[in-house]
Amino acid sequence: MTTTDARPTLPALPDPATQAVVASGLLPELSYALGGPFHVLLPDAFDANVHGMREALAAGGVDGFVYYAKKANKAAVFAERAAALGAGVDVASAGELREALAHGVRGEHLVVTGPVKDPRLLHLAVQHGALIAVDALDELDAVITIALNGRVRPARVLLRVLPSVQPLSRFGMTEQELITAVDRCVQADDALLMEGFSFHLSGYALQPRADLAARLVGRCLSARVKGLEAGRISIGGGLPISYTDADSWHTFLATQRPADYHAGKTFRTGDFYPYHSPLAGADALAALLATRPENTGTTLADVLRDAGVELLLEPGRSLLDRAGATVFTVQGVKDRDGYQILTVDGTSLSLSEQWFNSEYLPDPLLIPQDPDAPAGTFPASVGAATCLESDMLTWRKIPFPRRPRTGDLLLYPNTAGYQMDSNESPFHDLPLPPKVVIDRTDHPRPRWRLDRHFT
Ligand SMILES: *Cc1c(COP(=O)(O)O)cnc(C)c1O
Repeated sequence: MTTTDARPTLPALPDPATQAVVASGLLPELSYALGGPFHVLLPDAFDANVHGMREALAAGGVDGFVYYAKKANKAAVFAERAAALGAGVDVASAGELREALAHGVRGEHLVVTGPVKDPRLLHLAVQHGALIAVDALDELDAVITIALNGRVRPARVLLRVLPSVQPLSRFGMTEQELITAVDRCVQADDALLMEGFSFHLSGYALQPRADLAARLVGRCLSARVKGLEAGRISIGGGLPISYTDADSWHTFLATQRPADYHAGKTFRTGDFYPYHSPLAGADALAALLATRPENTGTTLADVLRDAGVELLLEPGRSLLDRAGATVFTVQGVKDRDGYQILTVDGTSLSLSEQWFNSEYLPDPLLIPQDPDAPAGTFPASVGAATCLESDMLTWRKIPFPRRPRTGDLLLYPNTAGYQMDSNESPFHDLPLPPKVVIDRTDHPRPRWRLDRHFT
């Protein structure tokens, strides 16, 4: 990082499962067979992440339940794994609910979040005994009406709180609305099971989460006085992933400049995802439980335990840490002044970060066709196979360790959480990249199959 022409790098943290897949030689075969870009899914990592969170809850002595936030990846395999593990799924549409049920998740293991929900979604949720995070008073009324008319079972609800630390959020209910909502829950009597309160904060700071969680526990205690069940709170998602090590990340932030990007593109560093977090995933959860909420002399874990309140989590991204990668083939290589532009066979729609005034920064891995390709430092940016000037998979001039050539593969690491498919569309009539599930990476020949996503 010291010479003037050194380009900043951001190596992904080593992942043995991804390395095993690369070493197996499977990827060039898949690229040939599928004839375009594809995603590789590593669901064992998902299992490990679920276990890690459960262990953090157990170690904190806290009763808890993990719901996988399905919006982070459309693949069926993660819903299948959630079902197999007895974990829940957080859904926000009838489509997501259908997918989760179809892949074996039980109705009572679903939580339905999202703003004012479609009446059909509310019907399905009540019918299947899903927990509904109610976002507004009119939605609460709709749920009560459905429960009264359906007479199948009481509707299970959480009341979503507008966080005072994010007063401009469009989600959740104000203080006044919450008072009314609690009263209506009391009036609804048997039609409703008011199970507690919920929030979801943007950002990754622990203290505001602990503070708000403790306040929701207080709300549960007050609601119980009125005869409501109020035994659970949901703290939403927002546990970070560390994609790279601390040193690489801080060096990157300190040294990157416009000349490091194709066309002198600039990004505000504040718009980058924090690609390194000192505490990520289950460690962040453990730290959250050990955080002392404001105005309490104890930890959040103690607050929850003392009140007998169960902690619900809805992690998306963090359950998908290391659970997948995205593979493109280099279709062409252009020489520019001091760097190259690689054009790959897909688009930045498969790397959603590119659509948020930002860049997906972990270095893609070059998998050369010719293992004897000359070694050195070969900076290159990565463009899409589309006619849009702005459609770049990577604006940054990545210092590749070999000269990239047509036919080489590029593997973008750790893309399962939000990168793969939130934005994908068949732009230019390009087919959507298929998802290849690697069921076992410890096998000398990885076993693979196509994902069973239905739509
Ligand atoms: C998006 C979302 C999540 C998941 O957030 P992550 O940052 O992926 O963990 C959980 N709950 C709600 C209500 C959400 O909107």
